Amino acid sequence: IFIIRLFCRALFRAYAAAAQAALSVLESELDAIRTAGTWKGERVITSRQGPRISVDGSRGDILNFCANNYLGLSSHPEVVKAGIEALQKYGAGLSSVRFICGTQSIHKNLEEKLAQFHEREDCILYASCFDANAGLFEVLLGPDDAVLSDELNHASIIDGIRLCRAKRFRYKHMDLNDLEEKLKESQSSRLRLVVTDGVFSMDGDVAPLQGICDLAEQYGALVFIDECHATGFLGPRGRGTDELLGVMDRVHIVNSTLGKALGGAAGGYTVGPKALIELLRQRSRPYLFSNSLPPPVVGCATRAVELLLASNEIAQSMAAKTMRFRNNMTQAGFTISGTAHPICPVMLGDARLASLMADDMLKLGVYVIGFSYPVVPKGKARIRVQISAAHTDEDIDRAEGFTISGTAHPICPVMLGDARLASLMADDMLKLGKNKKVMPFNVSWIIYMRVADYLNVLLS
Ligand code: PLP
Repeated sequence: IFIIRLFCRALFRAYAAAAQAALSVLESELDAIRTAGTWKGERVITSRQGPRISVDGSRGDILNFCANNYLGLSSHPEVVKAGIEALQKYGAGLSSVRFICGTQSIHKNLEEKLAQFHEREDCILYASCFDANAGLFEVLLGPDDAVLSDELNHASIIDGIRLCRAKRFRYKHMDLNDLEEKLKESQSSRLRLVVTDGVFSMDGDVAPLQGICDLAEQYGALVFIDECHATGFLGPRGRGTDELLGVMDRVHIVNSTLGKALGGAAGGYTVGPKALIELLRQRSRPYLFSNSLPPPVVGCATRAVELLLASNEIAQSMAAKTMRFRNNMTQAGFTISGTAHPICPVMLGDARLASLMADDMLKLGVYVIGFSYPVVPKGKARIRVQISAAHTDEDIDRAEGFTISGTAHPICPVMLGDARLASLMADDMLKLGKNKKVMPFNVSWIIYMRVADYLNVLLS
């Protein structure tokens, strides 16, 4: 007994030391994130999602410009009602995967409606679009195939591609010449799939789908798009980027989410040829080995799709508000990346400035988030503003808070890109008697100056 006790104690000490070593590895990882300034905090919302929210620690309503609630359907009364009805009729959940005993009539109905919405043959639901992206490529592509992916595609696409055994080619962001090079290089593959986000969420820029489809046809490749930031509102009937660019019949596979414009609850899906969808039901691992979408989630999404099939009014209202914001901000001297998309990145360049201005805006009752490296490239920090159909025109005009906040900071970076231009402009500013300081900053050059001067420069 004594020997066994000794042995157990030694074992316990070894386990405790191993656990302690693991904890210190985790602590040092966490410290490294804090030191790098890339720590992601979470603000706690105490109300439902919408243009006005309550945030823990802030007094009164906060005007919210951070959600992907593009069409304002997250708390739309009809969407909420449909969720409650589905909860009452079909229960909280299925306690099962789809193929065992987890498919209800409402799941089939939603799949039909989504296929109809996207004008594709069939649809398969997933618990999220992350899962839809994780489950597609492995099923479709084998070692004899090739996948050609935009370098800035969403993380879930990158992970999905990692899971498949096809040869991987990464083309430069939205660069058709580079895509063509990669298509030539992969000529010997059995199947080739060009993969792109329809809209890239950090810049709100739209993939050149016409050019991509032309090249795909020329080289015999298939085209896949992720439409998370387009479904429901881009294009004349809100069908997405493929409708906006007139290529609905040339894009073969679409993945999208129910967690943004389509009610914002959760869930994702693939639409495309019937044979592909059937194969996904047989082989796609996140579909086969994960629980069915809960009935209230299905109910909410179904009502959201029905609203959009019936009318495009909500999407049009969002588009008008987007242009109002973009115009207001451009007139105030700010640079907004992208064109007509409701993702409106206010480009600031400097990470500290983006974070300071986001904090100032919260003090002014406006909730926006600063993004900096590594989420966006170094020197391209920004505040991303997202417009919703649920915002009023008065809400949009509260963007003047950016000017108030900008004026409060003693410096403001002017991104010029070109070192010679930065130096010439700094000399000019000196002749005009303005404060100036010229600094190299990673890939670009920046003149740091007072905000009032900055606005003058931009406006002149
Ligand atoms: N694809 C893109 C482009 C996204 O922005 C997101 C969400 O952030 C996803 C996929 C994942 O969607 P979901 O939240 O449904 O998993």
